[in-house]
Amino acid sequence: MVAVGLVVAGCGGEPVAQHTPVLDPIVTVGIPPSTSASSSPPPVATTTSTPPPVVIVLNPGHNGGNGGHPDEIARQVPAGAGKTKECDTTGTQTNAGYPEHAFTWDVTLRVRDALAIRGVTVVMTRENDTGVGPCVDERAAIANRSDAVAVVSIHADGSEAAGAHGFHVAYPLPALNEAQGEPSLRLATVLRDGLSKAGFAPANYIGQNGLDGRGDLAGLSLSEKPSVFVECGNMRDAAEAGVLGSEDGKQRYAIAIATALLTYIGR
Ligand code: ZN
Repeated sequence: MVAVGLVVAGCGGEPVAQHTPVLDPIVTVGIPPSTSASSSPPPVATTTSTPPPVVIVLNPGHNGGNGGHPDEIARQVPAGAGKTKECDTTGTQTNAGYPEHAFTWDVTLRVRDALAIRGVTVVMTRENDTGVGPCVDERAAIANRSDAVAVVSIHADGSEAAGAHGFHVAYPLPALNEAQGEPSLRLATVLRDGLSKAGFAPANYIGQNGLDGRGDLAGLSLSEKPSVFVECGNMRDAAEAGVLGSEDGKQRYAIAIATALLTYIGR
């Protein structure tokens, strides 16, 4: 099945969309020149212009139907650098059975809404949490076909190591094109800093200071845009699972990610 990117713009039916900067009319405020002698200062004109459209791709990891379609999910697809990889996986889950795909979908919707309010056009790589795929190469292709300035895949990890917890942001390493170099590392750094500032601890079991260069993630290796994976935490850690599974926790992750993305695009 051909996957179609779902475009959700700031005007996507959100009641708050009417307040988005992108919809603000161009406003020019001026004072007509005076014909009489006056001590008033010269007329000053201020112009408020619409910010240029900015596109961000959000890629919620996995999908709710993957588990029921093992053959479809196991087929090999291009993974970049001449390698192949499985189409996708089912993702992990908490020890209590809360699945990663549901977490990534929930958090991604929250990030999408927070960005849309600020006039960012969001492209999603899947439309719901009940389908199969799309495969990792198609997710990358959706982003590559877009005008995205940033591509953010949202996941949670499933490390069985005792005491392993904390978030990390994966970026492409080695960089296979210009977008995978400095812009991707900068995007990863801004997200890392945003999550830290929001009170989340960097991972104690992978990467360094919340950053992890990866050459084995197809979504990164295939990307022609600045692209990162946010692994919000370890679902197998009992304490962290409580945060990952809570409404408050998911909202905090989403706001931290959205705020960092707004910083990255200068808004
Ligand atoms: Zn995942």
